[in-house]
Amino acid sequence: MSTLHELAQRLMALDDRITSCMKCGLCQAVCPMFGASGMEADVARGKLALIDGLAHELLKSPEGVADKLGRCLLCGSCQASCPPGVKIMDIFMEAREIVYEFIGLHPVKKMIFRTLLAKPGLFNFAMRLGAPVQGLMFRKTDDVQGTVCAPMLSFMLGDRHIRPLAKKPLHAAHGVINEPRRAGGLKVAFFPGCLGDKMYTGMAEACLKVLRHHNVAVFMPANLACCGIPALSSGDVQGMAGQMKANVEALKDGDFDYILTPCGTCTATLHELWPKYANRLESTLRDKLREISAKAMDINAFLVDVLKVQPAEQAADNAVAVTYHDSCHLKKSLGLTKQPRSVVSANPAFRLTEMAEADRCCGCGGSFNLFHYNYSRQIGQRKRDNVVASGAKVVAAGCPACMMQLEDVLSHNNDVVKVRHTVEIYADSLK
Ligand code: SF4
Ligand code: SF4
Ligand code: SF4
Repeated sequence: MSTLHELAQRLMALDDRITSCMKCGLCQAVCPMFGASGMEADVARGKLALIDGLAHELLKSPEGVADKLGRCLLCGSCQASCPPGVKIMDIFMEAREIVYEFIGLHPVKKMIFRTLLAKPGLFNFAMRLGAPVQGLMFRKTDDVQGTVCAPMLSFMLGDRHIRPLAKKPLHAAHGVINEPRRAGGLKVAFFPGCLGDKMYTGMAEACLKVLRHHNVAVFMPANLACCGIPALSSGDVQGMAGQMKANVEALKDGDFDYILTPCGTCTATLHELWPKYANRLESTLRDKLREISAKAMDINAFLVDVLKVQPAEQAADNAVAVTYHDSCHLKKSLGLTKQPRSVVSANPAFRLTEMAEADRCCGCGGSFNLFHYNYSRQIGQRKRDNVVASGAKVVAAGCPACMMQLEDVLSHNNDVVKVRHTVEIYADSLK
């Protein structure tokens, strides 16, 4: 694909789906990016028109269209409220792939997605080198979240308040876990995700504690890779395929009934996106990939729907008020709203109180936060205002990416509302 005409021909494959947009503009009301910028090119209708413009050779700048496509959190809010049900997320992903194939992926991204993230041993080694020296770069912010800032790395991290890398990643603390089934009971593979393995290890440990409490045997192999969503959302399907392959190879010999993740984004990727891209793997791995994908489940859904964890009958008199943020991928991709709330309410030491706009995106959006931090913070501020207005002392989420974003905005506002994963809250109630 070397000419604009060839690019246009590839994009014409999306034309039927794009033309099902009836241009009603209802996506404007729910789009966090449009809410922040007010620009038509930032809302789904505008982006679809831009892709269509390239496909019909009315527009001549694929770089310009790629830039506009990148101004999107891939939160799925537009698709969830689109009257004709335009498959907006599929169109965006496919358009990103085609356009980046034409303009070329930045070499740094290529190196990260195809080498670092597809080779878990190398990624783990790089993180192991970084963890002990991060103290030289980071300064504590003294907030309730335990975040740090990095003025010396401001060219890269801006003024973000982030969690430092864990002193010991989960895989190093446990090695391979392969427990025998207890009296013929359930066995699950645990997929902590990059953030659960390297940053939010307390959350991942809480998941293991809860599974053991319920007599569920755990399998966690060495060398699990990234789920692939950062590569895919950057248009690098080859990079994503490398990561899927590494994961299938790590998991393929395991005997398990479900594969659980504590991250809504990872679950949505494993369950919804892996099968769509199965044909990018060599044929011998495709069936295994589909089999693993079919077993992928969010840990909240597993606790409630499979293990029948229930809300406590009554919250304690001195229960702490907790509010719940609906992560986009849990609610809009997987349709999970009751289960995470039930998991939080299973601990009688907490009382659930709803915030306004609980399902409004927090503004993280993965690489969106990296490249559009100002917008990310602006969108996050609205979420922070809703959290604080709820009066809760704790905000729970089922996605560590959301937790990272919530911690950043709350910390910048000097708020004392603590951010926790739903399963951490439930784990507190268990011996
Ligand atoms: S809501 Fe759907 S149909 Fe309406 S403008 Fe947006 S994308 Fe098009
Ligand atoms: S995915 Fe989210 S940010 Fe992107 S266009 Fe749709 S609503 Fe807006
Ligand atoms: S991490 Fe935040 S931005 Fe990303 S999908 Fe979840 S709610 Fe949306």
